[in-house]
Amino acid sequence: MSVASDFDLDPEEVRRLGRLAADCVAEHREKLTERPVFGKVGTDASTFDIALPEAGRPADQIIAFVREHVMPRPMGNSHPRFFGFINASADPLGTVGDYLASAMNPNCWGRDHAAVHVENRVIRWLSELMGFPEGAQGILASGGSMANFIALAAARRAMTPGNVREDGHARGPQLVVYASDQVHSCIDKAVDLLGIGTRHLRKIPCDDQFRLPMDALARMVADDRARGLRPAIVVGTAGTVNTGAVDPLDAIADFCKRESLWFHADGAYGAMARIAPSLAPQFAGIERADSLAADPHKWMYVPYEAGATLVREGDRLADAFRKFPEYLASDPDSPFPGPAWFAERGPELSRGFKALKVFMGLLRHGRSGYAAAIERDAALARFLSDAVDRRRELERLAPTTLSIVNFRYLVPGASAERADTVNRQIVNRLVGSGSFFLAPTILKGRASLRVCIVNFRTREEDLTFLLDEVCRVGAELAY
Ligand SMILES: *Cc1c(COP(=O)(O)O)cnc(C)c1O
Repeated sequence: MSVASDFDLDPEEVRRLGRLAADCVAEHREKLTERPVFGKVGTDASTFDIALPEAGRPADQIIAFVREHVMPRPMGNSHPRFFGFINASADPLGTVGDYLASAMNPNCWGRDHAAVHVENRVIRWLSELMGFPEGAQGILASGGSMANFIALAAARRAMTPGNVREDGHARGPQLVVYASDQVHSCIDKAVDLLGIGTRHLRKIPCDDQFRLPMDALARMVADDRARGLRPAIVVGTAGTVNTGAVDPLDAIADFCKRESLWFHADGAYGAMARIAPSLAPQFAGIERADSLAADPHKWMYVPYEAGATLVREGDRLADAFRKFPEYLASDPDSPFPGPAWFAERGPELSRGFKALKVFMGLLRHGRSGYAAAIERDAALARFLSDAVDRRRELERLAPTTLSIVNFRYLVPGASAERADTVNRQIVNRLVGSGSFFLAPTILKGRASLRVCIVNFRTREEDLTFLLDEVCRVGAELAY
């Protein structure tokens, strides 16, 4: 079969290149645990110092380059001993989904093609998993940061008198947003970009469980009202990044109802744990939120990127984002209006087919499959947490509520500064060894070894090995 242009491939060639790519993916999986967790590039950076190509080269050569130089240097989050940040291992079926989605290459802003129906269905399923009502609407976004931004834009529009989209903030009352000091930094960014200003994001010192204290929230809202400001939004975090703490969502929902405030739940990490029976009680009240951010690329193991915004009153998103220029206007007699206009639910017009990998994952695993995987991660975190408690050399620094464990190596007789230094050195030694990836944090001013498990490949042995190594390296450094 002949093709019209070098850009095109005939079907046989599509099959052949697809098989080469599949071989790369399989090899990557086979060698996952033979290589260091973190594929540091370091002095090999010159590998990527390639002059801008004038002429092209054969596809086989390019795939060979990727196989040799790119695939073996991963960030590490597919490895069973990657415990950094909240970076999940990718569901292999989601990888296939991305390949199929990009082969179709639809632009998912609207109209009556399959991708829009698939995204619409994914939003319905996510709403159902979160206990949101029938009339809820939503949109997939690049991740939690964008999902939170979209939700807060809807909240700003709803909570500002007049039309803030046209008037701006100059004439209106000053909105105030409330959260605990454990809130994710993307809320700062959103409050900044929405013109509310980060000085009007009240970060209330968390309680000893790292949760938002309701009494302090009530006091601050009353103070701000007395000063002529307009309390508008409370952000409850459903699983904080530092410790996995879940704010008292039911109490926040009651408070927001009483005070006529918008309740936004940031469940980028934790929201999906609502479907895991042992964790569900912590999430009571999340279904009462006015808006919710969740990240399928976290606790649904969907490959990057996939975040999601849900709003309980469907029209709130369009109120904040609808803007239809003449070149997108839909003829009332058009044969393809489609089930949803995603372009009017967020800031983006051209949008990829992120929904397919989420759709395929939910079809493959079902609600019970995700519930079991989340339970397994949480059980591993409890296993680690109990093991930390049993070792005299270690001290736990926060309650283990979801799948994050915070602890430190105890350096006998050392000052706080020295103990922090030793714990930071432990992280650097372990990451440098290639056996683990950890990202430390600071809790109440103290350096913490932080382990986050959103990884269906991690086993108990990996965690025992981690503690053995922490204690061995800690003893070496401390004496
Ligand atoms: C990860 C996370 C975010 C940011 O999500 P991205 O997908 O990284 O943009 C926001 N909030 C919480 C609670 C998170 O865990």
